[in-house]
Amino acid sequence: MKDLQGIVLAIAERMAKEPDRGHVAQYIPELAKIDPNQFGIAVALADGNLFAAGDADTPFSIQSISKVFTLSLALGRVGDALWERVGREPSGDPFNSIVQLEADHGIPRNPFINAGAIVVTDVLLAGHQPRETIGEILRFMRHISEDDGIRIDPEVARSEERTGFRNAALANFIRAANNLRHAPEQTLGVYYHHCAIAMTCKQLAMAGRYFAFGGRLGVDGPKIVSSARARRINALMLTCGHYDGSGDFAFQVGLPGKSGVGGGILAIVPDVASVAVWSPGLNAVGNSTLATQALKMLSNRAGWSIFGET
Ligand code: GLU
Repeated sequence: MKDLQGIVLAIAERMAKEPDRGHVAQYIPELAKIDPNQFGIAVALADGNLFAAGDADTPFSIQSISKVFTLSLALGRVGDALWERVGREPSGDPFNSIVQLEADHGIPRNPFINAGAIVVTDVLLAGHQPRETIGEILRFMRHISEDDGIRIDPEVARSEERTGFRNAALANFIRAANNLRHAPEQTLGVYYHHCAIAMTCKQLAMAGRYFAFGGRLGVDGPKIVSSARARRINALMLTCGHYDGSGDFAFQVGLPGKSGVGGGILAIVPDVASVAVWSPGLNAVGNSTLATQALKMLSNRAGWSIFGET
């Protein structure tokens, strides 16, 4: 095994000196306040061993990273019937594109763009009150990260609720196309709350292990999803996990991954590790500038690209 602690420390040191840190998301007022000078990284292995550096214990808003977890839950609920309501193709358009949704007749292109994640949330809401669904998602996050301290940041959820006019437009359009079963504001309420889950890099790396280890939390850990499902969600992360920057992330890093506008990225090294990196400044397509750079360094140094060792 490589000297992972040495590698993550070297990455954090290098990132601390980077002058170009991107720009913190401005469209969610609560996120616009975050200090861009932060950087954290954590690598979780099958046995739960963690290698971490930088601000790996600072909670941040996981935002769209929550979508890989809600997708897991929704597939558990309705299985492949989900794919009648959401596609599996990369979008090539911004994450909140309204034009694309209209072209696709209200069937969102994939579960990771906002429109697709809103439909996934709508699936989870079936038969429940919004509060129960939020509770179910939070319990799931606590279970897979083995940490009962995980919380939702109510300020972030409120901030999104107050300003999410674009998401409201998407949800209303989906409803008009008969692909939303609940009132748009109900589904959006749950969506904003799961986006507002706050986690540290260490917690997130632990939570992502089931994608790396055939659906289990570690090699002998409890089964969370089937291995086929874990494999397929990894495929979606690779092709759709970084919005219209997905191709470039696969090119640069070579790992399935999911980013969020809070500046986090969860990356999966199949059969080896689950990695969480966070730095709040984003690039032009909404992915963390330094987290992407750090993952590129990590996958190079550890020889972890799924396309072959360097
Ligand atoms: N809650 C954010 C939104 O709906 C999620 C976007 C993201 O992380 O990419 O706009």
